[in-house]
This record gives sequence, C-alpha cells and structure tokens, in this order.
Amino acid sequence: MRRVLNFSAGPAVLPEEVIAQIQAEIFDWQGSGMSVMEMSHRSFEFESIMNSALTDLMGLLDLGDEYEILFMQGGATAQFATVPMNLMTENNKADYVYTGQWGKKAIKEAKKFGSINIAASSEDRNFSYIPEENEWKLDTDADYVHITSNETIGGVEFHWTPDTGDIPLVSDMSSHFLSRTIDVSKYGVIYAGAQKNVGPAGLTIVIIRKDLVGRTEKTLPAMQDYKVFAENRSMSNTPPCYSIYVAGLVFKWLKRKGGLEGIEKINIFKSQLLYEYLDGSDFYQTPVDSMFRSRMNVPFKTNDVSTNEKFLVEARANDLCELKGHRSVGGMRASIYNAMSVDGVKILIDFMKEFERKNG
Ligand SMILES: *Cc1c(COP(=O)(O)O)cnc(C)c1O
Repeated sequence: MRRVLNFSAGPAVLPEEVIAQIQAEIFDWQGSGMSVMEMSHRSFEFESIMNSALTDLMGLLDLGDEYEILFMQGGATAQFATVPMNLMTENNKADYVYTGQWGKKAIKEAKKFGSINIAASSEDRNFSYIPEENEWKLDTDADYVHITSNETIGGVEFHWTPDTGDIPLVSDMSSHFLSRTIDVSKYGVIYAGAQKNVGPAGLTIVIIRKDLVGRTEKTLPAMQDYKVFAENRSMSNTPPCYSIYVAGLVFKWLKRKGGLEGIEKINIFKSQLLYEYLDGSDFYQTPVDSMFRSRMNVPFKTNDVSTNEKFLVEARANDLCELKGHRSVGGMRASIYNAMSVDGVKILIDFMKEFERKNG
C-alpha cells in the first residue's frame, strides 16, 4: 500500500486510524451484517451512529442547550444563500467583513437576498491581513455580521472572536472548524463544509443559536430551512449517512487527541515549524501579515514562476502532493489540517530545505 503526504486544501487528508476503522467495518458494521453505505437512515443502527456523532460533537464544542447542531448538504456554498434566507428579517440587511476569495463568494450570493454592507475589506493589500475591528463600519440595523474566519485560499485566519454586540455573528469556519478551541456562545451561526477538516465531502455542519431558528417569516425550500432541520434532527429526508458516519469517527479520534485543546496545541506547533522556516528563508516568501497567518493553510512561493513549477514537480515525485497554490494566487500552499502529522510537516520542511539548497 502506498500513502502519500496529502497537502490538499479539500477534500483533504483523514486520520489513518479512522481510515483503518472504516476499512475494518466496511462489509459489516459492528455485527449488523451491512455496510453503513447500505443502511436505512431510519434503522436503529444508523440512529446510534447519528446520536454518537451529535453527542461527541457537542462534547468537543462544549455546546450548551442554547445551540442546535444541523447536518445539512450543499457545502458551504449552499450556506452562502441559506444564511441570508434564514437570518434576514424585514430589515433585509447584513454586514460582511471581506477578507478573501470565499468571503467574496459569500457576498455575491447574499446580495441576491438583501442589501449587503461591506463593513471592512482587506482587498487593498491583496487579502494579506484582517482590518482592525475598531475600524469596521458596522450597520446597527444589520440582521447579522458575517466573517470568513479562515480564508482557505489566502491563508488568513481570525485568531480572536469579533464582538458584534446584539447583532448575531455568523462565521464560515469551513477550513478551520475543530482545529482550535472556540467559544461558541459568541456566535449566532457557525457553518463548515466537512471535507476540509472533518470528513468526506457531502456533509455541511451548521451550529445555530436556537433563538435564530425560525427567525424569518418567509417560506423557504425545506432543504434550506434551518427550522426543518432543527425540528427533525436533520432527518426530514435522507442525510449524507456515510459522511456523518466518518465524521463521527473523526470526532472520536479528536477526543482521543485531547479534544480541541489537544489538537490546537499540535496545530500551533506544526504551523510554527513551517512559518519559522519560511521566515528564516530568503528563498521562499509567505504573503500574510504574521498576526493573521492561518494555522491550517500556508501559502508560499519563490520569487520565480518557473522555480515554483519545478518545486511542485519535484515535490510530487517525492510523494508530497497537492501543494499547488489556488489558481487565483499561484505559487504553493500547504494545507496542514488536523490529520496532517507533525512528521508530515517535518518531511515537507526537509524537502523545502533541500530544494532551496539546490536552487537558491
Ligand atoms: C472550501 C470552502 C468553501 C466552499 O465549500 P463547498 O463545500 O465546496 O461549497 C467555502 N468557504 C470556505 C472558507 C472554504 O474553505
């Protein structure tokens, strides 16, 4: 069997322990005589898979009774519309903090539903920072404030939680959900596509403060109505069963790692190794201001396009995969999610050093 080091931004690397368990259970899930892929979502076996996933996720997030977990579909992209559909009131206004490419898409979609105020933007410096919170031009009438707390493409991460007072804070956490401790009580809605840091594609996790469920009077399509999902424990229709099963195994793996505190320590360590190396090198550059660097997605490049190309080809030949930067920014990007080991990052750095020695 061959396993490469997979630095993909998503779908992305999963813990090997989890894949091994999936393999062991693939034909016969715990004596049921069936694969989870073949199971009715109404069976008691799947009920138990669903219940453990919900309970474990609640535990990881230390979630109180005021919050609901929804297992939805359509990715974070569906949430770009689902959020305004559900949270906009007759005000029909929302504030967006614009710090990168995913925020741009969220704004574009939200504009179909109401009037969007760009409260702050870092476009002037190519999304390499987050504007200071005291300079945000928030609208006191806004129905919510939206941030993208980790911009996957630019590699920009919020390392604090903004204070938006009584106006609900909504965050797209797709690419750093469960990578760090978090005070959920400061958010109205958190959403994340699973395929970055949680499990396979197909599952979208939404954490919503219960008083925001059913906020709108409008009639919504059932698949985009938080109320329908909340009232039916995300089972009003067939949920993405297999993705929920795998995500549930990842939640248990995270618990064994010491929960979010445990994984956060590892993520800080891993990302510091890489950034320290990048900062000490004249050969590679990383564009993001040091205060806002993502622990999950690390963009970097050399000062020469053909050298970047060569880097990617040689990395691939050394089983270091998916290091190409997003097409909108070029260069390289290492996504070092929870399941990327410290050793994996060390191997990457060793390769980078060797490449620098030969080409610098
Ligand atoms: C990947 C990503 C998205 C898009 O997710 P889909 O599941 O493909 O819709 C949105 N926001 C962020 C921050 C992402 O990383």
